[in-house]
Amino acid sequence: MDLLDCLDTTWSGAVVFIDDNSKKSLDRPYGRVNRKQLKSKMMGKCICNGVKFHQAKVIKVIHEETKSFLICNDGVTVQATVVLDATGFSRSLIQYDKPYNPGYQVAYGILAEVEEHPFDVDKMLFMDWRDTHLNSNQQLKEKNSKIPTFLYAMPFSANRIFLEETSLVARPGLLIDDIKERMVLRLKHLGIKVTSIEEDERCVIPMGGPLPVLPQRVVGIGGTAGMVHPSTGYMVARTLAAAPIVAKAIIKYLGSEQGFSGNELSAGVWKDLWPIERRRQREFFCFGMDVLLKLDLQGTRRFFSAFFDLEPRYWHGFLSSRLFLPELITFGLSLFSHASNVSRVEIMAKGTVPLVNMISNLIQDGDKD
Ligand SMILES: Cc1cc2nc3c(=O)[nH]c(=O)nc-3n(C[C@H](O)[C@H](O)[C@H](O)COP(=O)(O)OP(=O)(O)OC[C@H]3O[C@@H](n4cnc5c(N)ncnc54)[C@H](O)[C@@H]3O)c2cc1C
Repeated sequence: MDLLDCLDTTWSGAVVFIDDNSKKSLDRPYGRVNRKQLKSKMMGKCICNGVKFHQAKVIKVIHEETKSFLICNDGVTVQATVVLDATGFSRSLIQYDKPYNPGYQVAYGILAEVEEHPFDVDKMLFMDWRDTHLNSNQQLKEKNSKIPTFLYAMPFSANRIFLEETSLVARPGLLIDDIKERMVLRLKHLGIKVTSIEEDERCVIPMGGPLPVLPQRVVGIGGTAGMVHPSTGYMVARTLAAAPIVAKAIIKYLGSEQGFSGNELSAGVWKDLWPIERRRQREFFCFGMDVLLKLDLQGTRRFFSAFFDLEPRYWHGFLSSRLFLPELITFGLSLFSHASNVSRVEIMAKGTVPLVNMISNLIQDGDKD
């Protein structure tokens, strides 16, 4: 499925405000996916290929050696050769053997008609870390300096804009009401008067945490299979790219001469979905999340200032999950060399424990392979 076919708006580049005195221009186009179009395209492809739908909630799965039975809440039982769980963060069928301790990205967004806004309609606003709008409320300013939120905005025209106040990652996650309060003050400070709200969204995305038990009989994809980028919360593009890998693996193992089935078949599919390079990459992204969790507003600003000063291939690759461990190590070293002295001390102080954890996890995982 090509996401590019489902973009409803694109911007030629993006901007980041680190603070009042520092603005970075990102020379990378940005697009907004039309969710309805994407869903109807995917449904259309399913229908063309003879997929049969049954609308119900799965409450249980029973496995025999070569087949499985899905028990639905309407009393129907569906027989399956392979069960693929895509139940997102409810993690209905997939099993985990380690405590679930994600960070949470929390955001509140509106698609709104406004009298006017100060943003360039050719650029999307990737992150605005300015906090002068909170000067009138010292309590909120203090909270924001400890667990910061940023504005993310997609201007469609001079009067229509998507605005989202976002906490990148926190544990526990921020409350939506806290975020809304900050957003109201920010919009007032920016002189944005909302005349009507077309849509609003509340976003809580669990990030990082352990991978499911690998392998296991039920195969997973998406949020339930640990595919959310632990440092950014992105998942959709990565999962759409992984879907053909899972489909090909199922076809390959089902059709193989050895006639794989049951546990063997699922193990083969999991191996193709989470090969060692992807697991190592995820471990590095979890390390990134652990560092971000420890940074206050000033630390976060210093981090992103150095991040967006890197050679574009590094931050492009980090954000889009296209860098793998050897390049990620170079990325980390490059980030360190671009960081200010204060930031280097901070990274060493706050990053040492997560770094040691990452190395230990990498060694343990390497031993298993
Ligand atoms: C407001 C918002 C904005 C976001 N923006 C972005 C973004 O810009 N980019 C990005 O990459 N990500 C974004 N995300 C995150 C992204 O949407 C999620 O990571 C993604 O939806 C997870 O997809 P999924 O298919 O794994 O699970 P879901 O989308 O949660 O789908 C799971 C489905 O399984 C069904 N289900 C659950 N349990 C059962 C059961 N027992 N039986 C049958 N069905 C069941 C649910 O009803 C649901 O339909 C955003 C999330 C939110 C909330």
